[in-house]
Amino acid sequence: MTERTFSIIKPDATKRNLTGKVNAVIEDAGLRIVAQKRIRMSRAQAEKFYDVHAARPFFGELVDFMMSAPVVVQVLEGPNAVAKYREVMGATNPADAAPGTIRKLFAESVGENSVHGSDSQENAKLEIAQFFTDDEIVG
Ligand code: GDP
Repeated sequence: MTERTFSIIKPDATKRNLTGKVNAVIEDAGLRIVAQKRIRMSRAQAEKFYDVHAARPFFGELVDFMMSAPVVVQVLEGPNAVAKYREVMGATNPADAAPGTIRKLFAESVGENSVHGSDSQENAKLEIAQFFTDDEIVG
């Protein structure tokens, strides 16, 4: 089933000029980038986005990291896009990520792990709506 998921290329990757390399892995996996923009996240945006982790000890560090350099927010489309992109990203900790995944290839640590991808269709819809209007998504 054709689905959409939400992706972020995180500051550790944009800082190292890896946007194109990450996008190549995404496109080679059969996912289509149907919306994309480079933004500087505000504290309010980062706190809202990671609200589910607000009680975790790393929350402050995570919000500061997401504001530390530009990010690229994206909408990806394809068959089973949510699960497919989670597979393409690899495990949260790059040490546990499978060969060929974005995090195995590029991530620096469990915190600075190069990409975000939605974990459910429901969250994908909410996350896409936080950063994109319908007319910015061109399938
Ligand atoms: P994901 O869905 O694979 O991104 O993983 P989670 O939802 O568990 O965590 C969200 C994000 O929080 C991760 O992608 C990391 O950027 C960050 N994070 C998770 N665990 C840690 C941690 O132990 N330390 C720090 N600094 N960041 C973490």
